[in-house]
Amino acid sequence: MPYSFCPRCAARLTPRRLEGRSRPVCPDCGFVDYNNPLPCVGVLALDCGKVLLVKRAVEPFKDYWDIPGGFLESDEHPDAGARREFLEETGLHIEPGEALGFFVDIYGQDQEPTLNICLLARVVGGEQHAGSDAADLQWFPLDGLPDRIAFNWERRALDMLIERLRGAGR
Ligand SMILES: [Zn+2]
Repeated sequence: MPYSFCPRCAARLTPRRLEGRSRPVCPDCGFVDYNNPLPCVGVLALDCGKVLLVKRAVEPFKDYWDIPGGFLESDEHPDAGARREFLEETGLHIEPGEALGFFVDIYGQDQEPTLNICLLARVVGGEQHAGSDAADLQWFPLDGLPDRIAFNWERRALDMLIERLRGAGR
């Protein structure tokens, strides 16, 4: 969410034209609020044409189905973040593969811009159980996905996966 006040010196930010965009700038210390997207990772684990989704136990999108994943830590490679988040939410270990794609979206009440790295993966071990902020876990066939998918980018990613597998003749 864009700042109203400078996070460094608390002066009120004022819009200024910079690099072709209007951006909130601090008139006192020069801080610029770029409002860059936060990097997130989402994991599409595939097994026999089915994909594992998590039912969210918390807002936003409580009770909607979600692609396992979350925000990256400040020093975390997306592969490591994918392994960590997937294990936390599903109890399963994965081997991350290639990226399906990259998706820009907006998160939560604060309208936080996010950059979602969607990785394909396969499960390599562990014991499946829903993590603390998950109400349920289910493997869905790609032609039988639930209607209530949590985030806008996830719908786009699932559609892209379906298109890609169709193109591969499966
Ligand atoms: Zn300032």
